[in-house]
Amino acid sequence: MDGQKIKRIVIAGGGTAGWIAAYALVNQLGGLLDITLVESDEIGTVGVGESTIPTARTFHEYMGIDEADFVRATGSTFKLGISFEDWAREGDRYIHSFGAIGRSTWMVDFHHFWLRAHELGIAQDIGPYCLEHEAAAQGRFAASGNVPLNYAYHLDAGLYGRYLRGLAEAAGVRRVEGKIGEVRQNGETGDIEALVLEDGQVVEGDLFIDCTGFRALLIDKALGCKFEDWSKWLPTDSALAVQTRQVESPRPYTRAMAHEAGWRWKIPLQHRVGNGLVYSSAHMSDERARELLNEKLEGDVLIEPRLIRFKAGQRPQVWVKNCIALGLSSGFIEPLESTSIHLIMIAVTRLLQVFPSRGVSPAISERFNEQANREIEAIRDFIVLHYHLNEREGSDFWRDCRDLDIPDTLKQRIALFRDAAHVYQDTHDLFRIDSWVQVMLGQRLQPLSYHPAARLMPETQMKEALANLQGNIARAVASLPAHEDALRSFASPA
Ligand code: FAD
Repeated sequence: MDGQKIKRIVIAGGGTAGWIAAYALVNQLGGLLDITLVESDEIGTVGVGESTIPTARTFHEYMGIDEADFVRATGSTFKLGISFEDWAREGDRYIHSFGAIGRSTWMVDFHHFWLRAHELGIAQDIGPYCLEHEAAAQGRFAASGNVPLNYAYHLDAGLYGRYLRGLAEAAGVRRVEGKIGEVRQNGETGDIEALVLEDGQVVEGDLFIDCTGFRALLIDKALGCKFEDWSKWLPTDSALAVQTRQVESPRPYTRAMAHEAGWRWKIPLQHRVGNGLVYSSAHMSDERARELLNEKLEGDVLIEPRLIRFKAGQRPQVWVKNCIALGLSSGFIEPLESTSIHLIMIAVTRLLQVFPSRGVSPAISERFNEQANREIEAIRDFIVLHYHLNEREGSDFWRDCRDLDIPDTLKQRIALFRDAAHVYQDTHDLFRIDSWVQVMLGQRLQPLSYHPAARLMPETQMKEALANLQGNIARAVASLPAHEDALRSFASPA
C-alpha cells in the first residue's frame, strides 16, 4: 500500500469555514498532514453567521470540543428553535423548534392524530406536544439533567473564529497572513499547485480548500466552476447587520420577524444582540431598509449597520480537481433557517470520511458533489416554503413570493401535505418530519385529510393521551431553570 500522498493541505481563507476546516483536519488527521491556512486581516470576514442548528453540538463532540469552554469563549447562548413572527399573516407567530412532536407510530406520524383531535375540538396548537417548543416558549433551558433537550447555539462569529484558530494553531496549523494575488495551476492538469500572495510568499499544496467566502477565488476565479443562481426562488439579496447592547434576558431561540419585503433577525448572545434585516433590493431600497431596521432596534448600537449583498444559489461542483469549496464560496442560501454553518460542518465531516490517500479520484469528488447538491436542494425547498406559503396583504414582495413557480420537488411536498397530511424525510434531507410539519402548519397550510388510522382511536382515549402528553411536557419544562440561570453556570467571555 502506498503511503499518504495528499499531505500538504492549504486552506484559503480564515472565516468560520476556514477555521472549522483547519481545526477538523488537524484534530482528526493532523498526524498525517501539514496544514496551512492563509487569511487576510485587511479583507476580514463576512462577520455574520451566529445562529446554528444542533449539528454544531454533534460536530463539537466529534472534535472533542468542551462545551463549557466553547460557550465561555464565544459568549454563546442556547437555542431551541426559531420564532417566526408575522410570516403567514401579520400577527401570526409559530416556533419551529428542534424537538420531536408527540409520539408517532411506525405507521402514523403524530400530527395525523393531532389533526383528528383538532377537528374534534380537543386540541389547540401542536406546540404544547413538543418539549423543546414549550421550553423555548417559556424561556427555560438546561444543557444536561433529567430533561434532555435537542438544542444548538447562538454564537459570536468573531469569537468563534478566534476560538477555533486558537485550537487549530495549538494543534499545529500554520497561519499565513497575506492577500492571495494569484492561484498557480499546473499547465497540463489544471490542478492548483500554489497560492501566490501579494507580498511574494508562495504556499504550495496537494489539496486546496477554498474558504474565501463570496469571492470564491479558487473554485470560481481559478477553476471557473459556475454558480447556479436560485434568486428566482429566493429573491432576497441584501442584509443590513448590526449589533446592539442587551436590553432583556437572552431568549433561547432566534427571532425571525417578517417585514414588508423580507424579514429581520434577532440573535441574543451573552454580551450583545445580533440584529439584521434581510430584504429584496428589487422590492425595497437600502434607505428604507436602514430606516426600518433603525425603527425596530432596541438597545444601544455597538457597531454601525453594515450592508451585505448576496445571491442565493449553489455550485453544482464544489469539489473540482484538487480543490474543495467550503462555506460561502460553495453556495449560499439565505440565513432564515441558520443552515450555512451546518453545511460547512457536514461537508468537513464528509471530507474527513472520504479523505484521499493516493490522490484525488473523480469517483470521490463526483460522489461528494452529488451529496452536497442533494442536501442543499432540500434545504432550498424548505426555505422557499416559508416565503411561498404566505397570505400577507399589501406587499408586492409577499405577493411575488406567493406567485413564484416553485421547484417541482417542493410542489410535490406541498401537495402531499395539503391532500393527506403526508410528510417525509429522505436520506439527504436535513429537516425532519417534525420541522416540515411545524412550518407547514405555521404557514397555515391546512391538510384536507389525514391518515385514516387516526379515526380508529376513540375520542375519550385520544383526549386522555393528549392530556397526559401535554401534562408530562409541562411538568418537565417547569422543572427546568430559566435560560439566563442556566447560562450563569457558564461564565461570560472576557
Ligand atoms: P468569510 O467569513 O467571508 O471568510 C472569507 C475568508 O477569506 C476571510 O478570512 C478573508 O479574509 C479570506 N479571503 C478572501 N479573499 C482573500 C484573499 N484575496 N487573500 C487572502 N484571504 C482572503 N450562517 C449560519 O449558519 N447562521 C446564520 O445565522 C447566518 N447568518 C448569515 C447572515 C447573512 C446576512 C449572511 C450573508 C450569511 C449568514 N450565514 C449564516 C452564513 C455564514 O455567515 C457563513 O456561512 C460563515 O460565516 C462562513 O463564511 P466563510 O468563512 O465562507 O466566508
